[in-house]
Amino acid sequence: MEKEGQRAHHREGIMNEKMRELQKTTGYLNELPAYAWPGGYPLVYTGGQNEFLCAACAQRALDNPDGWDEWLPDDYFIHYEGPPIFCSECNAEIESAYGDPYA
Ligand SMILES: [Zn+2]
Repeated sequence: MEKEGQRAHHREGIMNEKMRELQKTTGYLNELPAYAWPGGYPLVYTGGQNEFLCAACAQRALDNPDGWDEWLPDDYFIHYEGPPIFCSECNAEIESAYGDPYA
């Protein structure tokens, strides 16, 4: 219990305001959402030099910032339209909400 509290505290320290607000609005306590609420639109996390992360990898980075030698996610956007985006870390495909109009 104590340990979990420390982890959460540590994480709050490295999350910026926008990321914290996202967690609050979605009702997730310890997990970054993969989809926006309301709407269910897919979320893509960003940081570094225009790198993209899926929710799971963004969460892993924030959980273990010392073991993460790359950039930390500090922003996100809703992937409304266009070709899928691939996570820089695990290569997971994040499809857009409305697909690619030019595909
Ligand atoms: Zn990933």
